[in-house]
Amino acid sequence: MTIEIVVGANWGDEGKGRMVDYFAQDADFVVRYQGGNNAGHTVVIDEGEFKLHLLPSGVFNPNVVNILGPGMVIDLEALVTELGDLRSRGVNPNIRISDRATICFPFHRMEDGWEEERLGKNAYGSTRRGIAPAYGDRTIKKAIQVGEVLYPERLSERLRAVCDWKLLMAERIYGKTAPFTFEEMLGWVEKNGGALRDMICDTSALLDEGAKAGKKILFEAQLGTLRDLNFGIYPYTTSSCTLAAFAPIGGGLFGHAPDRVVAVVKAFSTCVGEGPFVTLMEKEAADALRVSAKEYGAATGRPRTIGHFDALATRYGARMQGATGVALTKLDSLSGQKTLKICTHYEWRGQRFDSFPLNAVLEEATPVYIEMPGWSEDIGGVRRFEDLPKAARDYVEKIEELIECPVQYVSVGPEREALIVRA
Ligand code: GDP
Ligand code: MG
Repeated sequence: MTIEIVVGANWGDEGKGRMVDYFAQDADFVVRYQGGNNAGHTVVIDEGEFKLHLLPSGVFNPNVVNILGPGMVIDLEALVTELGDLRSRGVNPNIRISDRATICFPFHRMEDGWEEERLGKNAYGSTRRGIAPAYGDRTIKKAIQVGEVLYPERLSERLRAVCDWKLLMAERIYGKTAPFTFEEMLGWVEKNGGALRDMICDTSALLDEGAKAGKKILFEAQLGTLRDLNFGIYPYTTSSCTLAAFAPIGGGLFGHAPDRVVAVVKAFSTCVGEGPFVTLMEKEAADALRVSAKEYGAATGRPRTIGHFDALATRYGARMQGATGVALTKLDSLSGQKTLKICTHYEWRGQRFDSFPLNAVLEEATPVYIEMPGWSEDIGGVRRFEDLPKAARDYVEKIEELIECPVQYVSVGPEREALIVRA
């Protein structure tokens, strides 16, 4: 049995989907263990480019059982659409959905939008897919679990109670009178839940059996450390735990320590959404790199904010993940940069920070950089570390030293095979 967990050590969009697809080539199970369809995990294979939102990135291996874990919030309509899109492109994945996962309803999407509008300039930068309200409802015990679809009488009763409460909130807090009806929501869940019915099961039992039979199980996180609900840039975080430590709960497999935790790290910094971001790149350079590296959100298409590599944030990011190794992605995107800056620490009001502080400091912190020479060669075809230009090797090795975690993989292109595996 092998258990591997693939997580992000930055703000998300590090290339987790790409790495999970690579590791899934010999996996038996791939489990998404948190988040919802605010994710955008890109996988590029011979058949073309795919953007996954709810489905685990093991869907391109027909031998993999892909599990949507109990820690996820699932918009059933979005899942039906995503599966339909995949099937129309000839991909017929094997999917199981945890009966304990949380349903993300259309009223969660609405509420997400109403709250962002109410907040105005202080908005969280939500994708408005209902993720925060759905997790919030889970916590205050007003959510509906996916498995309740299998018990229609009870579902209808509980949904009515939830809708009564939600309609009251809509009116009293947001001034929205009857933005939806209970009947509409029941129809929605019957239709979309019905389409997924055969995939809903106790996925924990399935995984437990798999573990006992010595299978390879891969856990896939969404977003990264710095958006983690507990250890990220709160409140500009997501509403779930993005850490590897949450994989057993969000995935539903207990009593097995992971064999390894691979933290995916991007060779420069990017983020979408709001919140402090210390190593912001100068506008002109950032605009050029955004275009050449195609840094636009996979879920929303929003332009990503671009920054220099932040070794302080990434060291923290890898440490909080308990990472045993790092996969460094998009090194190829840095070809042609004359010099490369790496932030080693922050300064704030005359004080030096070597560990990742709270937003109060982050919002005013000054990054302190070292500079390294760049390289001009196209490295997309390189498959051995020693064949990289010296400046690229030096850059990787400096990152490795500063983040205190071995770089075991270097990705030099979005395609599955564009990967350097280091001994
Ligand atoms: P995720 O959310 O962590 O799965 O990452 P995204 O898919 O949102 O963003 C990563 C983007 O970078 C995608 O467009 C990938 O196809 C692309 N990508 C991943 N690794 C590499 C790489 O090594 N080089 C290049 N050029 N693109 C990459
Ligand atoms: Mg993404």
